[in-house]
Amino acid sequence: MRTKQFKSESKRLMDMMINSIYTHKEIFLREIISNASDALDKLYFRSLTDSSVGLGSEDFVIRIELDEENRLIRVIDNGCGMTEEELDTNLGTIAKSGSLAFKKENEKTENVDIIGQFGVGFYSAFMVSDMVTVETKAFGSDEAFRWESEGADGYKIGPCEKADFGTVVTMHIKEDTEDEKYSDFLDQYRISALIKKYSDYIRHPIKMEFTTSKPVEGGEEGEYEEVKEDRILNSRIPLWKKNRSEITPEEYNNFYKEKFYDFEDPAKVIHTSVEGQATYHAMMFIPKRPPFDYYSKDYEKGLQLYSKGVLIMDKCSDLLPDYFSFVKGLVDSEDLSLNISREMLQHDSQLKLIAKTIEKKVKSELEKMLKNEREAYEEFFKNFGIQLKFGVYNGYGVHKDVLKDLLLFTSSNEKKLVTLAEYAERAGEEQKKIYYACGETVEKIEMLPQCDSVKEKGFEILYLTEYVDEFALKMLGNYADKEFINICDEQLDLDSEDEKKELETENADAKDMFEEMKTAIGDGVSSVRYTNKLSNHPVCLTTEGGISLEMEKTLNSMPGQEQKVKAQIVLEINAKHPVAEKLKALFADDKETLGKYAKLLYGEACLISGKTIDDPVEYSNLICELMTK
Ligand code: ADP
Ligand code: MG
Repeated sequence: MRTKQFKSESKRLMDMMINSIYTHKEIFLREIISNASDALDKLYFRSLTDSSVGLGSEDFVIRIELDEENRLIRVIDNGCGMTEEELDTNLGTIAKSGSLAFKKENEKTENVDIIGQFGVGFYSAFMVSDMVTVETKAFGSDEAFRWESEGADGYKIGPCEKADFGTVVTMHIKEDTEDEKYSDFLDQYRISALIKKYSDYIRHPIKMEFTTSKPVEGGEEGEYEEVKEDRILNSRIPLWKKNRSEITPEEYNNFYKEKFYDFEDPAKVIHTSVEGQATYHAMMFIPKRPPFDYYSKDYEKGLQLYSKGVLIMDKCSDLLPDYFSFVKGLVDSEDLSLNISREMLQHDSQLKLIAKTIEKKVKSELEKMLKNEREAYEEFFKNFGIQLKFGVYNGYGVHKDVLKDLLLFTSSNEKKLVTLAEYAERAGEEQKKIYYACGETVEKIEMLPQCDSVKEKGFEILYLTEYVDEFALKMLGNYADKEFINICDEQLDLDSEDEKKELETENADAKDMFEEMKTAIGDGVSSVRYTNKLSNHPVCLTTEGGISLEMEKTLNSMPGQEQKVKAQIVLEINAKHPVAEKLKALFADDKETLGKYAKLLYGEACLISGKTIDDPVEYSNLICELMTK
């Protein structure tokens, strides 16, 4: 036998297992059983195309043996087994998704309590054992190997004798301590209960020899004998094929956490069985929080795909649109061929049909949540809403109608989250526009000078704080026949006909003055004019031509954007503000000062809109000049 060290990551996980103070040590059995079941699935899968396997679906069995005297639990499978190399890499390193996800989460929280709440894998055996051996023979090979470890010091690997293919995992159970009665795990009733609790839905039979005492047949009163009989400990019905009424919330939650490596209960369970053109069972979950890699490139969306109870693909991305990529879960269909290839799946019409109904189902569940569990929905939206907004915007808006009623925005109406439908309803027939404003935070948006006058007219404003927001609204164009308009758009029009006419005349009269001011400011603005949009502030910036300041910022921050996008900026001046008179006077007899004031007003407007000042040094100098005059 050769002695080896664990890879450093594995060693850490192993240390944690051995010293675990976690109270649910019992989950080790679930982990070992689930590995055995995976191994059976792999070989079963192969048997579909390879007749040399020679096993039918009922021949795959997991067997548990208890040896109380020697403190041993054996878990035996006739699955695919492992070669020497596989044994070394699979059990010497943490390579697999589950363990890795665990490790990453754990780095963040350092909370030992999360151990065992989801798949921590093979090493969990060390929570209850002081020695674990694995004897295995890969299918089709005539050599068997043995792996053995007493914990963090490392492991030994070498050849061994084993007649049949498959794997035997032998756990030597720790001695009892004051805190933990490990001997319980050697009790047949305890084991049987654990299988019911955690592994009931495993497809393959989990068998164990049960010892009971029965009255001796034809014997005397009170005469008992020990009877040994093989029992199947699991019901073998996958959870998703059971009736919803038979499943407790705890079962759903445990199933989710174990299968999808989360340590929190899901925010929502969607369990559905469909019969008709497409026939399938689906069990889906919306996580409480985004997975740690959700907003990174590494995140892969998709649902597990089963055919007749057998896993055929781990992440079938075609089953979920991007905007529902946060959904975790599985689909089991009778209609799919077991040995269909990935490429063929993409064109499978049955799969497309399933995907379509899944999308509808998720959507209707979200709508229901929005209607009946507002608080939960708002929490969901805080986590994943941005994905829905991207969904509206992406693909030139082809999915906007699916998603528009699922969106929420903060509103000036008590700063609550509102749907577009709620806004439209409050606005009534008369109001033809939906007003919105953009900024980094709600507080900053409320400081925009335009906000006051829109509110004074009694209009509600949507506050957009995420950069995708405005793009999504632009893509929608309108809602309930009400056009979206940025309150910082030059076209914002709150005036009556008379007011409009008056303003037009004032602007025409001041045309030359504004030309003078525009020239002084330079490239920064495309025009200067009077406005009625302001109540107290002297100036504000608006944009014309559809690109807002926020959009300009976003577009220019995108990588590979060589040619800078430019918003066309208008400097608008409050015609009723005393500063207007001052400007007129200066235009009459001091054009030089008019130019300086124009720059000052422009700088001021930039500051208020959250735009950086083009030339801060010049701006400061002008202020000083004014102070020392
Ligand atoms: P995971 O199951 O998430 O992959 P584990 O730590 O539980 O991680 O197991 C590590 C690997 O060891 C498995 O992926 C599998 O390749 C191998 N393995 C474990 N148990 C068995 C078994 N009974 N038969 C075959 N391979 C096994
Ligand atoms: Mg495992």
